[in-house]
Amino acid sequence: MVQTEVWKKLKEELNAKGVTLVAVSKKKPVSDIQEVYDLGQRDFGENYVQELVDKQPQLPTDIKWHYIGHLQTNKVKYVAPFVHLIHAVDSMKLLSEINKQAVKSHRVIDVLLQLHIADEETKFGLSKEELIELLEQYSAQKTELSNVRICGLMGMATFTDDLEQVRKEFGNMKNIFTFAKDSYFMTDATFDTCSMGMSGDYEMAVEEGSTLVRIGSMIFGERN
Ligand SMILES: *Cc1c(COP(=O)(O)O)cnc(C)c1O
Repeated sequence: MVQTEVWKKLKEELNAKGVTLVAVSKKKPVSDIQEVYDLGQRDFGENYVQELVDKQPQLPTDIKWHYIGHLQTNKVKYVAPFVHLIHAVDSMKLLSEINKQAVKSHRVIDVLLQLHIADEETKFGLSKEELIELLEQYSAQKTELSNVRICGLMGMATFTDDLEQVRKEFGNMKNIFTFAKDSYFMTDATFDTCSMGMSGDYEMAVEEGSTLVRIGSMIFGERN
């Protein structure tokens, strides 16, 4: 069930802090998304290509769709015509494919690079060293990659009760964001997004400098 009052409070609190709220609607029906849209929400996040491609035509065209899951290269073409921001880019191969599909759609597609900040093996993302390597390659090929725009970084903290560890991971992520901005995007005003924080840890993420939070279960209720 949609938590209307929770959304209102969250939206107000985040607006006051200049933080973008992405409502993560994966596994939730189109009717729930419409309900949150009618409250005034415009940014929605999805994790699965098929699900997003099914939902998108059934909903208002001014929704900004954030693709927040791991994106396979061979599926970029399905989301390229309409996606607003791709959050989890972690290879040059994927970045090149997004550029290629953006050219075909006559668009410039905004992306975030995914950092691995958690102390967990299973999550995707780049280490700081791998991020630097990718940014070096990107800088060298910037003219060929003019249909993608790197707008910042995204990361997920470890799923743990140890709040000090979570805070440290978000702080680390923000430091790397600042380093990347200063080293590679000094003159790009569009490199401004530090996407971190979910239902369980968004307050801490905002305290540590998040500019965009991805919140699902708090707004839509638990997923099955
Ligand atoms: C599902 C998901 C979220 C939202 O998680 P909640 O705990 O429901 O807020 C945020 N980010 C990513 C990458 C997700 O997969």
